[in-house]
Amino acid sequence: MVNFTKIEDNIYVLTDRAKCCANLVIGTKRALLFDTCTGADDMLEAVRSITDLPILVIASHGHFDHIGGSIYFDEVYMREEEYMLFSEYSNEIITGWIKDLCNLAPEDPYTYDCRNWEQFKHLDFDSFDLGELECQVIPLPGHTIGSVGIYIPSKKVLLSGDALTPVMCMNFSNHGPLEMEYRTLQMVLQMDMDYYLTSHHNYKMGKGEISRMIECIEQCEGKRFHEYQYPTPPYTMGWFRLHSVEGEPVGIILAHDAPEVGKKVHG
Ligand SMILES: [Zn+2]
Repeated sequence: MVNFTKIEDNIYVLTDRAKCCANLVIGTKRALLFDTCTGADDMLEAVRSITDLPILVIASHGHFDHIGGSIYFDEVYMREEEYMLFSEYSNEIITGWIKDLCNLAPEDPYTYDCRNWEQFKHLDFDSFDLGELECQVIPLPGHTIGSVGIYIPSKKVLLSGDALTPVMCMNFSNHGPLEMEYRTLQMVLQMDMDYYLTSHHNYKMGKGEISRMIECIEQCEGKRFHEYQYPTPPYTMGWFRLHSVEGEPVGIILAHDAPEVGKKVHG
């Protein structure tokens, strides 16, 4: 079952059973669903409980917990750079991950079917209108090279997927170099933005988090990282450094041999 958090008029966070989030933005003519969660819950049904408007669906990037729910829609737009991730996901793998995330027994009959990802279309536009609500597609490369966010100038809101998550994972497939994420954070800091939303929190974050993430990267060179296995699917190994805890923890998880932090001391 999907939980709804109203952030402000016409902006909601939808959280599925697997605790992954999507953003719903409602204009006068159509609605935007940004990300689709894991697929554990029927996201079309969830959206339909709030609005009957036509739906534009965009995926922030290609990690399974953002595209799994694409199966409930005829068309989902995503940047072409993310399509390489499809080859990493079989129906069996995703079925197992969703069972893990939803605490289903291994013998539970639930099975996932990705529909050969045929619902995906290239995200080749950089702005769109929901009806009295202009939106812009903003490249946010780093967490993955084809990550995008959606900026809504009239509300000064940025929907960011995983690209600005305060504990930044740079150890998953299709991640870019740390410098890429650093440039993205610097760009976001200059934006006219009151708050942003991520795909793993149901509350607002702001430039305070962005500044601390920038600091985290600036100060991590030569510092100690700890070997770390991500506790939930896809369980990828990495190297973790916690920067600070001021309400919201800020840290970074790098791939084992991330060349951009060559001096790290192994734990
Ligand atoms: Zn991701």
